[in-house]
Amino acid sequence: MQRAVINRWINFSPIDGPGNRTVIFFQGCNLNCSYCHNPETIEIYDNKSKIPGSLYLLTVDELIEKIKQNFPYISGITVSGGEPLLQLEFIKELFSKTKKLGLSNFIDTNGTIPLTEQKTLLDLTDGVMIDFKASNSADLIEVTGSDKLEIIKENIILLNDVGLLHEVRTVIAGGLINYQENVVEIAGFIAEIDPEIKFKLIAYRNHGVENSEGIIEPSTEDINNYKKLARTNGCKNIQIIK
Ligand code: SF4
Repeated sequence: MQRAVINRWINFSPIDGPGNRTVIFFQGCNLNCSYCHNPETIEIYDNKSKIPGSLYLLTVDELIEKIKQNFPYISGITVSGGEPLLQLEFIKELFSKTKKLGLSNFIDTNGTIPLTEQKTLLDLTDGVMIDFKASNSADLIEVTGSDKLEIIKENIILLNDVGLLHEVRTVIAGGLINYQENVVEIAGFIAEIDPEIKFKLIAYRNHGVENSEGIIEPSTEDINNYKKLARTNGCKNIQIIK
């Protein structure tokens, strides 16, 4: 029986996909972003590791029992992290059971796990929120410590093709990379696929970040200007989170 390492969950969230959702934060991430707001979710433990007491090691059925307590107030669940798709087999089993319960399944991912061979997972999924943290390899390495640019782009194209792309998100964290260039390039990439794809620009905030030295919170004016830039470069559906 498989178990997942889970950091925590939120019973009710109106901001992690459509409707009211239970959000499960899986433990472990394959990136190390400078501005991570959930640094405690990064360390990877496998099922056999000694799991700290603050984490949960749960079977699918144990997790389902916790989700069921939120009936009838939720429309679905969202798996987040960390990077939830590092525990992909568990998520497939979870999604197959939540589907049978009439819930919708959303994924909040950093985009770095290839989805091209994941038909079973995609068949069980209703929507995906995917990060596009920087538009070129050098800047991705600067922000995340890793270059997965081609995988991220392939995943965005694939998710749009199969009708599962809920939104593409870029965090604007001043001082890290040149966001003028990055927003232009990411917006151009999105617009070429479909100008109506939702492009969410999120203003970095220091709160909860372990080492925020050198990272600057963008002003409202900055973020409005990035929105204009994205629109100028073809995106029609832009949302900003200040
Ligand atoms: S992908 Fe998300 S959870 Fe992972 S390090 Fe980056 S911000 Fe943190």
